[in-house]
Amino acid sequence: MTFGIAEGLSVHSEEGLGVGPDGQARRLVLMNPGPVMTDERVRSALAGPDMCHREPEFSRLLTRVRRKTTAICGGGDDHTAVVLTGSGTSAVEAVISSTVPEAGGLLVIDNGHYGERLHHIARAHAVRTHRWELGWGTPVDLEALDRLLAADPGLTHVGVVHHETSTGMLNDVAAVTTIAHAHGREVVVDAVSSVGAEALSLHDDAPDWLAGSSNKCLEGAPGLSFVAARKTAFEALGSRPRRTYYLDLHRHYRAQEEAAAPAFTPGIPAFYAFDAALDLALAEGREARLARYTRLAQRLRSGLEEMGMEILLPPEHRAAALTAVRIPQALTYTALHEGLRRDGFVIYSAQEQLAQEFFRLSTMGCMTSGEIDSFLSALDRLMTERHR
Ligand SMILES: *Cc1c(COP(=O)(O)O)cnc(C)c1O
Repeated sequence: MTFGIAEGLSVHSEEGLGVGPDGQARRLVLMNPGPVMTDERVRSALAGPDMCHREPEFSRLLTRVRRKTTAICGGGDDHTAVVLTGSGTSAVEAVISSTVPEAGGLLVIDNGHYGERLHHIARAHAVRTHRWELGWGTPVDLEALDRLLAADPGLTHVGVVHHETSTGMLNDVAAVTTIAHAHGREVVVDAVSSVGAEALSLHDDAPDWLAGSSNKCLEGAPGLSFVAARKTAFEALGSRPRRTYYLDLHRHYRAQEEAAAPAFTPGIPAFYAFDAALDLALAEGREARLARYTRLAQRLRSGLEEMGMEILLPPEHRAAALTAVRIPQALTYTALHEGLRRDGFVIYSAQEQLAQEFFRLSTMGCMTSGEIDSFLSALDRLMTERHR
C-alpha cells in the first residue's frame, strides 16, 4: 500500500514508513536546500480564493508582501522590494540584466556554482563581465578585490553570492560592499539561500541590490523571487539599457510602485503562501531563525563528526543553512540517497566538481531536532549495514 504525499511522491508502508502514529502519511524530511518544508499555515494558505490580479484585493496583497519583504531584508522607508513570479534565478537575472549600464561591467566574485552562474547570466545578456575565479570554497581576498577595482574603472558593478549553496560557504558581503563603495561601484548580492536567516541587511550592510526567493530561508512556497534596493536605485534604472522584456526590473518596479499592480499575471497562490510565510518570519525574527537553524546544524554536524564523517569547510566559513559532507568510502551518492530516502529523508547531491566526493544536507525550513536525530540514526544504520 502506498500513501501519496503529493503527485509522484509516495512512501511505502511495507518498508516501515509512511504512516505516523496517527495513521497519517508521514512527510518526507526535505534536506535539500529548498524548496523547504513549510509551516501548515503556509501550505493551507495556498488554497486561498481564485482572484483577479487586476482587482484591489490583489493590489493590497502585493503591497503587503512587498512591504514585509523589504522589512525582512532590513530595509527602511527609502528601500523597497519588487516581487517577481519565477524562481530565485529570475530575480538574479533581472538585476544583472537591468542594472549594469551599456559602458559598464560586472566583476563576478566566483567561488562556487552560483558565483559562476552570475557570470553566465551576465554573458547571456552581453553584459561585460570579469569573472574572478577564486576556487570553490575559497574566501574573498579583500585586498585583491581592492586592487581589481582600482585597476578597472569600467567594472561598475560587483556581483557576489552571500551563501554559496554549492559549498555551504558564507561570503562577507559587508566587507565586499565597503570596498566596492569606496571605489564608487554598486554591489549585487545573490542572497537567495540566506535572506531571512543569515545576517544581511540593506540598512546595515548596504548592498545596492539584493535578490532573494520565497522558498528557502523565508519558508514560503516555491514560485516567487524578489529584488530589494533603494527606491532611488530603482528609479535610476529608467536610464539603463533594456536587455530583456519580461525581466526588465524597471518595468516591474513602475507597475508595482506606481500602479500597485503586477506587470504580468502573478502566481497568486504562491503570493498567498508568501504572505503567510513572511508573517511567520517577521514574528520569529531573523536572529531567532538563524539561532534555530544554527542549533539544527550543530546537532547535525556533531552527529556526523561522531560517525567520523568529514565536513567540507572550516567552521568559521559555514552557513547555518547547509552542510556539505564527504561521501563515506563504502558508499556512493546513489546508495546514500536511495537508502536514506527509504527511511524518509531526501538528501541532495553536490554539484559539478564536488559531485563525486560530497553530498549536501540543508537545515533550512520547518525541520525539528527530532528529525535531525532520526536522520543521524538512519545514516548510522546505513553505514553499519555497508560495513558488515
Ligand atoms: C537556490 C539558489 C538560486 C536560485 O535557484 P532557483 O532554482 O532559480 O531557485 C540562486 N542562488 C543561490 C545561491 C541559490 O542557492
